[in-house]
Amino acid sequence: MPESFDVIVLGVGGMGSAACYELARRGRRVLGLEQFALAHDRGSSHGHTRIIRTAYAEGVEYVPLVRRAFARWYELEQVTGRHLLTECPCLNVGPAHSEHVAGVRASVRVHTLEAEELSGAEINRRYPAFNFPADYVGIVERAAGFLYVEECVRAHCDAALSLGAQIRANEPVLSWRADASGAEVTTAKNTYRAAKLVITAGAWATKLLAGLGVPLKVMRQTLHWFAAGDIDGVHRRDKFPIFIADVPNGPFYGLPAIDQYGVKFARHYNAPELPDPDGVNWETGTSDIAPVRAFLDSFLPAGGAHTKSQVCMYTVTPDHHFVIDVHPELPNVSVACGFSGHGFKFASAVGEVLADLADTGRTNHDIGLFKATRFAE
Ligand SMILES: Cc1cc2nc3c(=O)[nH]c(=O)nc-3n(C[C@H](O)[C@H](O)[C@H](O)COP(=O)(O)OP(=O)(O)OC[C@H]3O[C@@H](n4cnc5c(N)ncnc54)[C@H](O)[C@@H]3O)c2cc1C
Repeated sequence: MPESFDVIVLGVGGMGSAACYELARRGRRVLGLEQFALAHDRGSSHGHTRIIRTAYAEGVEYVPLVRRAFARWYELEQVTGRHLLTECPCLNVGPAHSEHVAGVRASVRVHTLEAEELSGAEINRRYPAFNFPADYVGIVERAAGFLYVEECVRAHCDAALSLGAQIRANEPVLSWRADASGAEVTTAKNTYRAAKLVITAGAWATKLLAGLGVPLKVMRQTLHWFAAGDIDGVHRRDKFPIFIADVPNGPFYGLPAIDQYGVKFARHYNAPELPDPDGVNWETGTSDIAPVRAFLDSFLPAGGAHTKSQVCMYTVTPDHHFVIDVHPELPNVSVACGFSGHGFKFASAVGEVLADLADTGRTNHDIGLFKATRFAE
């Protein structure tokens, strides 16, 4: 007889680790299956930090979920005694017609968020590292910060394990199937059964959920760090906000210097598409750094030497909104994928949503935007 559980979570990365924790917290017998080591650097949840912000440009619908995510990250800090989230203002900046800035403004208006609007000249005065055109506009919000991404995954896993969850790393799932009686998952080592299956496979959803009808694309994104100035330098957290800049070759974003690698910069989207998440070139070269360098030359001229780069994958839906739903044909299976390069901040709340879906097939969180069937409709 296969080993049996209440819920199997397939893929223990950002979302899967959160689902394991929340299901274990509710007393479910959980098995998490992960193909690599826990908190590895071959998926989408690595690279030191992830931005969390409330005035959400991508849609006003995300604001309640990000508020819940903040609460659940703080709760995870309390449960584990680890520091996971550092508050830091977030500057959203671009030309007056910027779609990103307009999206931030909409969230501020609809949810009455605290935010301050600045001109390009005011931004450059307040944050001396920047050199944005005087006619750019920026919105600064304080309900923002960054998460220590690998530490968050570890914290969710450790909290789940301490509540009795089983998480098996280095055990790739080869196949899964589900019917009215439950689900069966076969790995390289074993076959398991469960009443419910939660699939949180990141970029590998392109393979494991090929029949879902969601057209997912995987993108190879790169992250780059540049040395910060001396101790009084302009890249320090008290002088340099998180920023998202909607510029002609952008968007680009950055985070202040918090460690020996210095300031972190990256371009959002505009990256090569990958035919297969198992075929990624994990090495970086000068062509990866070039767009970020050009951005820095124009808008952040005081940058230091390049210190480090990393590769990471986005799994992107056509409308850049997530997929979080019960599988349309298999009520015992829930899915969370297509986080389109902006999902990590929500992981702590997504774990709660997935536990709701596994428990009852529904959730009180508003996930109407994330329906799996929307691309067929
Ligand atoms: C460069 C970069 C910067 C980003 N910046 C931000 C940011 O600032 N803020 C933000 O909110 N979001 C950001 N994101 C997006 C965010 O990181 C992702 O949306 C999120 O990490 C996705 O989590 P996930 O659980 O879907 O994927 P993952 O964390 O990759 O987890 C999927 C897991 O499933 C496992 N798996 C897959 N197939 C199998 C199998 N067959 N058997 C067993 N295990 C399997 C994988 O190994 C992996 O561990 C960024 C992403 C990247 C790449």
